[in-house]
Amino acid sequence: MKVICTKCGSMQVLCEAWINPNERETEKAFDHFSDDSFNYGYCMCCDDSAILTDCDKIRERIDKEYYAYKKLSKKEPYAARCEITYCSPRNGTEEVLIKISADENGHKNYFPFCENVNALKKLCGKSRERFIVTNIYCFE
Ligand SMILES: [Zn+2]
Repeated sequence: MKVICTKCGSMQVLCEAWINPNERETEKAFDHFSDDSFNYGYCMCCDDSAILTDCDKIRERIDKEYYAYKKLSKKEPYAARCEITYCSPRNGTEEVLIKISADENGHKNYFPFCENVNALKKLCGKSRERFIVTNIYCFE
């Protein structure tokens, strides 16, 4: 698990958990994380609330979707339908089709574009792009 702030990429983040207030020891008091604990929290570097993402989990999901697509269609996907979260202060999310690999003419001027599935997985963490891939829906 590697949960980061989507605004700055820091791992110095806090998220909500359920605890038993009558237990003094943190370990005993901790009960569970709520379903979307890792999706939204507080970043100590930004000193602000932020959308969080578990990079490792999204990368695992990409692998799973990729192998499922290959098994079914017997070819490489040309694009990935993803959710991206912008690293801007507004921290908005958007569903986009990320083009994978160049077309026959070698054109790479698509937004967003990446060379292959490994490059797509790199976008799940903080990169030079102004967004982070925070979910994968399917390959096409
Ligand atoms: Zn941050």
